[in-house]
Amino acid sequence: MNIRIAHLYPDMLNLYGDRGNIIALTRRMNFRGIEVQTDAITMGKSFNAEDYDILFIGGGQDFEQDVLLDDLKKGKDIEISKAINNGIAMLAICGGYQMLGKYYKTYDGKKLEYMGALDFYTEGKEERMIGNYAFRTKEGIEVVGFENHSGRTYLGSNVEPLGTVIKGYGNNGEDKTEGVRFKNTFGTYSHGPILPKNPQLADMIISKAIENKYGKCNLEPLDDELENKARKQVMKLYIK
Ligand code: GLN
Repeated sequence: MNIRIAHLYPDMLNLYGDRGNIIALTRRMNFRGIEVQTDAITMGKSFNAEDYDILFIGGGQDFEQDVLLDDLKKGKDIEISKAINNGIAMLAICGGYQMLGKYYKTYDGKKLEYMGALDFYTEGKEERMIGNYAFRTKEGIEVVGFENHSGRTYLGSNVEPLGTVIKGYGNNGEDKTEGVRFKNTFGTYSHGPILPKNPQLADMIISKAIENKYGKCNLEPLDDELENKARKQVMKLYIK
């Protein structure tokens, strides 16, 4: 088996080691004998989403999100929206997550029109939402992460949250929702990176990609002792 990952804007959107998510996905597939090829999709590079099985986009500052906008609007936005609707497996972090929505109004009043692939919008405030946090997905997976954002995201009725906040702010610090889920696309505010210490979430993304490409998918279990210890330690120290 062979899985192809597109890493969107890796040189611009890579806060707090977001690239570690690509490493976690790759290693967890390699351990199971699945080959992985990752392409860096930088500004100016042409991008055909049909060439890929997983899309990944990390987080960045308002500045980078603004700089990227012209490039995004030259066709990558349409490719990404189409792929999301066709059920591609995708993970988007923080600034990259915000870019899937309708718009982002920065705390100083600048409105960035985004791709509108998903039904939500984001508005920034001067006071940032920072800290270790945790949330629970509808499958009951407890996810730990680190958030640092000015944007408050408000979900529309056509999407689901990725989880419910256990501790921290999540999407907006008000409604206890965290992240977004639509078909096989997952968006989250969690940096850290999120996947190495939340292996169940990593395997959910891998399973979706394999199911899409090869039909059924029964992932061989891995020894996640260290990953689970790391997550439990974060829970103990910062959350519960
Ligand atoms: N620019 C966004 C915000 O501050 C995203 C920040 C991030 O990716 N950490 O809301």
